[in-house]
Amino acid sequence: MNKKGHVLNAILLALGLGVILTVDPRSFEPTADSAFLLAQKIGQLSLPVVLGALFPDVDTAFGKHRKTLHNLPVLAIFLVFPLVFGNLQFVWIGVATHYVLDMVGSKRGIALFYPLSPQEYDLPTGVATSSKHADAVTVVVTVAELGVLAGIHYYLFSLDVSLADAAASFTAVV
Ligand SMILES: [Zn+2]
Repeated sequence: MNKKGHVLNAILLALGLGVILTVDPRSFEPTADSAFLLAQKIGQLSLPVVLGALFPDVDTAFGKHRKTLHNLPVLAIFLVFPLVFGNLQFVWIGVATHYVLDMVGSKRGIALFYPLSPQEYDLPTGVATSSKHADAVTVVVTVAELGVLAGIHYYLFSLDVSLADAAASFTAVV
């Protein structure tokens, strides 16, 4: 997927995730307060998610594209960093959604286990990044991601806590 696709994906994801995290459909009442909280959450999410979504393609300039910064060890660094240093929260969401979009939405896969293995993994759903359907595919992938995230948030554990709390409540579930 090209940069435009990744930015579109990240912005839509930040908007949708902002709604998922602030609007509980079971008890939501539209007030000035709730509108403010929603805008605040979307603001908090959008910049780190967009930055994270742009980060992996830095490997077009150095290293090997779709390998050096397109793998699970890099994602793990972005997951652990906020726990250790207390900043860069939410950037991992952008990195993760970049991987999903490259695997699901484009023809070429990514080397998930690089540098252990150079093998690129892909799903047969992708279109060429130059395809006129690329934006539509990006939107469909984003909606599917939001569905999964909403399911996790409402039924498994709250995503709107520090990742340490999320990890703790996840271990409590399993
Ligand atoms: Zn990429």
